[in-house]
Amino acid sequence: MLRTHTCGELNMQFTGQFVTLCGWIQRIREMGGMTFIDLRDRYGITQLVFNLQVQPDLFAKVKELGREFVISAKGRVAERSSKNTKIPTGDIEILVDSLEILNASKIPPFTIEDNTDGGEELRMKYRYLDLRRTVVRTNIELRHRMAILTRNYMNEQGFIEIETPVLIKSTPEGARDFVVPSRMNPGQFYALPQSPQTFKQLLMVAGFDRYFQVVKCFRDEDLRADRQPEFSQIDCEMSFVTQEDILNTFEGLAKYLFAQVKGIDTGDFPRIGYDEAMREYGSDKPDIRFGMKLVELNATVKNRGFKVFDDAELVAGINATGCCEYSRKQIDELTDWVKRPQVGASGLVYIRYGTDGTLKSSVDKFYSADDLKAIAAQFSAAPGDLILILAGKMEKTQNALGTLRLEMGKRLGLIDPKVFKPLWVVNFPLLEWDEDSKRFYAKHHPFTSPVPQDIPLLDTDPGSVRANAYDLVINGVEIGGGSIRIHNRDLQKKMFQVLGFTDELAQEQFGFLMNAFEYGAPPHGGIAFGFDRWCTIFGGGESIRDFMAFPKNNSGRDVMIDTPSSISEEQLKELNIKLTS
Ligand code: ASP
Repeated sequence: MLRTHTCGELNMQFTGQFVTLCGWIQRIREMGGMTFIDLRDRYGITQLVFNLQVQPDLFAKVKELGREFVISAKGRVAERSSKNTKIPTGDIEILVDSLEILNASKIPPFTIEDNTDGGEELRMKYRYLDLRRTVVRTNIELRHRMAILTRNYMNEQGFIEIETPVLIKSTPEGARDFVVPSRMNPGQFYALPQSPQTFKQLLMVAGFDRYFQVVKCFRDEDLRADRQPEFSQIDCEMSFVTQEDILNTFEGLAKYLFAQVKGIDTGDFPRIGYDEAMREYGSDKPDIRFGMKLVELNATVKNRGFKVFDDAELVAGINATGCCEYSRKQIDELTDWVKRPQVGASGLVYIRYGTDGTLKSSVDKFYSADDLKAIAAQFSAAPGDLILILAGKMEKTQNALGTLRLEMGKRLGLIDPKVFKPLWVVNFPLLEWDEDSKRFYAKHHPFTSPVPQDIPLLDTDPGSVRANAYDLVINGVEIGGGSIRIHNRDLQKKMFQVLGFTDELAQEQFGFLMNAFEYGAPPHGGIAFGFDRWCTIFGGGESIRDFMAFPKNNSGRDVMIDTPSSISEEQLKELNIKLTS
């Protein structure tokens, strides 16, 4: 090797030894005839010292050096007179006596430091330089660790990793497919997998019993901070199991990762039903690091002449503890905030519980002091609190209150970023009605099994059928989801009917799966975790991008390699594709 040690491992035990280090120049400082260089590699930073009075032969070479040059330096490890306690190598330095420039560097377009001066777009363009920064590199290292630990755990549990194809046929996970034209089959296309769902089920039919894969998935969706067109899942499937078995197995994986990566014993994960989550937190991925639960007021506030409440399917609120001093202006601002389309409320009613014990509301006309007292009691409110109430359609109001709850939690500093609160959300509805297309959609996907008792309801009241499905949520982020699957041809066919597929279309798209169910398909179920999201949560990050080596920007572009890009006329012709513009 070109080096004897890395830039992160030398300390007082090595003083006197001759070593050779290789790395990038982070910083050069000249001080009274001495030149100091911080040499960086993946493992750390070590200080090099050049005494050019003693070694005039090095003078010319040292003067050539600049930031991000790649060098090799040989010298003796010596104790530093002024130590740097912030880094593990801070007690020593290398008194260099020979130096080789392995490669020069242009001045980098931004500083390679934790607090860089580079903007997002510039750093994406030079991602290989951004990745040199410790804060970015450690995210990628964390990702590696989590992948290795996951593989070890899954292997220990008897799961085998099997690769499934990337050029496949559309799988309905609710997003658009990326497609790939086939040269050999003119006019036909492959789709990139949104997940390996059907393949992992076929692996169960094949008898593999326990499958997993850390796998790339592709979804052509509008991008947000926690979405990328390509992302990774820890995808898993098991045979001969109930929901209980799956929750236990994967709670085991999650606890293992919490312990190994974060050093945290989370205890058993609470389980909460979908209905309860919506009712109490206004979200199917509740952040349970703080309380401020939703309180329903229908029974208390209706039929008092206040039309907004009378017409509403749901009147409910939260108690913003200690906020009674909110000014008119602050409340107006909050009202505008809940009326934004992202929150979607039509207005905000408040009850101020003054520190003197008096209650005042924005609807005093309709409710007496005693009424307000009764409402306040429902919230267990105390003098000093501010109750915020929304009203409207059930789900919309729940969602809006859920969003308001999170916002108030943030504003009041109730959400501790260092705390982790995982939980399972269970008992999802199987189907979701879409008003625009006037049809049911699978809430999870069409392969999810209904709760057996509810199967007859598929004919009479599909909307009320419960699914054998579950999500893992950590701190308000959906980290994974899965279900017990349908493994019977007739039930699968029925499910496609309920979803509005003709039998022909169902057969054309999923005949391979339904056929397989006729050859001894075992009962099975599984789950998939969003690996990038999980890394982001454990790494304390904001965006999954920061935990991917080469992510795409908000418009789905890789600005470094400049793609998507056009292809040549010749390629288009070969693929039988005619562009219309
Ligand atoms: N394939 C599903 C998804 O990507 C997960 C599962 O049901 O296992 O969400």
